[in-house]
Amino acid sequence: MRNLLKAHQQFAPFADAWLGSYLDSGKQLYCRDNCSGCCHLAVHATFPEAVAVAEQLSAQQTAELAGYVDRIKKAHKNWGTLKSYLKEHRQKLGPCPFLNQKGSCTIYPLRPLACRALLSTRPAAWCTVDFSELNSWDKQAYESSLDRQVVAWPTHYVAETQDFGQKLEKTLLEAMQREKGWALSGNFAIMVWLEQTCHLSKVTSKEECHEILATNDLSSNLLLDFSTHNQR
Ligand code: SF4
Repeated sequence: MRNLLKAHQQFAPFADAWLGSYLDSGKQLYCRDNCSGCCHLAVHATFPEAVAVAEQLSAQQTAELAGYVDRIKKAHKNWGTLKSYLKEHRQKLGPCPFLNQKGSCTIYPLRPLACRALLSTRPAAWCTVDFSELNSWDKQAYESSLDRQVVAWPTHYVAETQDFGQKLEKTLLEAMQREKGWALSGNFAIMVWLEQTCHLSKVTSKEECHEILATNDLSSNLLLDFSTHNQR
């Protein structure tokens, strides 16, 4: 948790400085309060970030979380690839369980680095588009509208903040690997649920973790990853 606090303290000034110089150059960002387009995407985070949230949930948040995990358990065996996981998640699973009816994040001070780092250089409508369903003309128009110096091509999200967020995520995973002998990243909400219901942070071996995942029908490399390299 100390490492997590430090990561948050490092990320905030980095993002502020980046944003200040970006806006000073006359360019625009489109992220706004209550704009929750990106909260319909699968959120990939590190386990320490999930532990921090699991300790704080209300009964209502816990119920929303349980509903989301149930939907994942029913659906995930049909997802053979990362592409189908991301697509099905966006289309069928509903938004992040921590998003409220007003479109606000209910865990905002503890939201993961992946959420902090996702800054949109295009209007919000683009955050929910399924690019595999665009015709080639629209796709070309979209791609030519992107600032390649700024975005993580071919997305419209800022590259530098994501790169820095991923660097901090890696330090969290490496610290966890050193301290516990295993490190975990993956679907943020599932990890929160695993901590809340199975107290995964108390588990001392990777083998025991795998048993818990199998018992809970959550063994999937698409959902959870035991390497210290963030692969998304
Ligand atoms: S944690 Fe918050 S910001 Fe991140 S996807 Fe969920 S609701 Fe959105």
